[in-house]
Amino acid sequence: MSANKRDYYEILGVDKKASKDDLKKAYRQLAKKYHPDLNKKDPQAEEKFKEINEAYQVLSDDEARAKYDQFGHAAFDQASGGGAGPFGDFFGDFGDIGDIFDLFGSFTGGSRRKGPTRGQDITISIDISFEEAAFGTTKNIKYKRMTICPKCNGNGAEPGTPITQCPECHGQGQIKQEVNTIFGRSVTVRPCPVCRGDGRMAKTPCSYCRGEGRAYQDEQLEIKIPPGVDTGNRVIARGKGGKGELGGPFGDLILNIRVRPHEVFKREGADLLLEVPISFAQAALGDEIEIPTLQGSFETYKIPSGIQSGDQRRLRGQGITILNSSNKGDLIVTFKVVTPTRLSLEEREIFEKLLKIQAPEPDSRSTFERFVDRLKGKK
Ligand SMILES: [Zn+2]
Ligand SMILES: [Zn+2]
Repeated sequence: MSANKRDYYEILGVDKKASKDDLKKAYRQLAKKYHPDLNKKDPQAEEKFKEINEAYQVLSDDEARAKYDQFGHAAFDQASGGGAGPFGDFFGDFGDIGDIFDLFGSFTGGSRRKGPTRGQDITISIDISFEEAAFGTTKNIKYKRMTICPKCNGNGAEPGTPITQCPECHGQGQIKQEVNTIFGRSVTVRPCPVCRGDGRMAKTPCSYCRGEGRAYQDEQLEIKIPPGVDTGNRVIARGKGGKGELGGPFGDLILNIRVRPHEVFKREGADLLLEVPISFAQAALGDEIEIPTLQGSFETYKIPSGIQSGDQRRLRGQGITILNSSNKGDLIVTFKVVTPTRLSLEEREIFEKLLKIQAPEPDSRSTFERFVDRLKGKK
């Protein structure tokens, strides 16, 4: 891995702009100094010698040097088999890193490396009602996914035709390659490019999936959405995404939840918010009213006399189920005193009468009224 590897230029003690001659000179000096035959008492010499050789091998090759300058050690790391390799960290999260290997294919000498890969995650956004989010629901989801070919059942062969051993790798699924290097022979193993690591091949490829073993299919799935979800929550159906290549596992189906707003209810986490309009008279005298619930029923509530516009009451446990819990939030009711805008004749008379008699006693005046009195010079 590249993490702890020293810089090749540093190993050879040369500048990044060093010429080929400079490199050769530096290499010869160091190779002589650390040659294992001359340093039998120094166990670290051999490691050093290998390091020097490796650095020189790369930097003395124009093409390899250019790649190293661009990508660093990552240019030469190889993934062990398929799946996540060193490029996972380097390039971010790729479902299929094959394409990146193509970049270096000519250098590593291998063809495109392949192995089983995890299938695609499929993300679908769904809109649900406010009530569905609060109480939970089941949704029938229709979508398309790459799945096991229905015709060949995934083995890639036209039904009735045999599956034979891959002639390229003789059923091994991998190809060994011996490379002569400066420190002797090294063997690299890579998945067979013909059978793509499977070891077996269809003599007649399936006509439906062209031998791939996978095909797009319409799917239908009932998915339970738990009570308490909100916009931004995701419900994941494991293994319901796309089928991976070469027998790789299925990805997931991810539902992105979006909750439609309600006419009158709002929510804040698991708390339900409701604004209840009341009249002047109800606020002044108190009253028994019916407060609607999200379930569609009513709660009887006694408004105390003298309630102010904006006063809140919390009805414990009348809110929304907390996600993944059996507990519930609260229903928070905000009373809003509504000023009438169209008065009947009778109401007008009553309000006019009220206006005349509504001069409070001096000792029961509010801070505001006392302030106004003071401004007017009254005591
Ligand atoms: Zn097929
Ligand atoms: Zn093969």
